[in-house]
Amino acid sequence: MNFLEIGFVELIDIALVAILIYQLYKLVKGTVAINIFIGLAVIYLLWKTVSAFHLQLLSEILGQFIGVGVIILVIVFQQELRKFLMLIGKGKVIKNKGIFKFNFSVKHENHLNTHAIARACEDMAKTKTGAIMVATQMDDLAVFAESGVAMNAEISVPMIESIFYKNSPLHDGAVIIRDNKIISARCVLPVSNSEDFPKNLGIRHRAAVGITEESDAIAIIVSEETGGISYVKDGELFTKRTPLQLEQFLNRIFTKISSKQ
Ligand code: ATP
Ligand code: MG
Repeated sequence: MNFLEIGFVELIDIALVAILIYQLYKLVKGTVAINIFIGLAVIYLLWKTVSAFHLQLLSEILGQFIGVGVIILVIVFQQELRKFLMLIGKGKVIKNKGIFKFNFSVKHENHLNTHAIARACEDMAKTKTGAIMVATQMDDLAVFAESGVAMNAEISVPMIESIFYKNSPLHDGAVIIRDNKIISARCVLPVSNSEDFPKNLGIRHRAAVGITEESDAIAIIVSEETGGISYVKDGELFTKRTPLQLEQFLNRIFTKISSKQ
């Protein structure tokens, strides 16, 4: 081995590996997968070190372990791999947390009646009506929209309130909004398995965080327990928001439109 023979190609190779490892780390950061990721990285480093020192037997044992490591990876990360392949298959790339940071598509303008959403949340907060809404951006969340009841309803205060009204057959699960239309209700969202999640918040909040970890969508929640309004972007949860804060937040992301209601 000659450590001094590092040329331009090697530097590019090292840089690419570093970027790949960093992106992988970001993908699993804050989830239980991080421990598995670190465990595998340690074993791999150990194996490389042991081989460099020509410790034949140990290197062979570790080598065998790395050999089946790929199978272990596939089993442990089965769900993540499925999601990843599904996104690639649909011609999409994971935008916020993904391996590919590039986005060549033309920016799509998303219209939203932000005022109606904020007002509906204000009312639902007062009556402690639980609600979870997901407003899409680039990713259309078709897979999750299909899990619910298809709709094609313009956003308005009474429309949102009647969906989440406690006795409504549509109140359970999430509403998915695309281009100012409610395209689906009663949707089941992926639940975040983040370890540092506030203990006082339940599955509704975890589902809101989950969908924003997997896509570029924005989630809005009204808590049934506290009447608190929250919103989530890129897995980051902002709780105890006022209706005005919610509206201003949405106006920064979406193109504001208004209707009579
Ligand atoms: P709240 O503050 O309103 O009580 P929470 O975060 O404590 O919310 P839960 O009390 O567990 O959450 O809320 C349960 C409700 O959340 C369910 O009735 C359902 O409507 C919704 N919900 C739970 N899991 C999901 C999911 N995976 N996708 C969409 N909605 C969900
Ligand atoms: Mg609860």
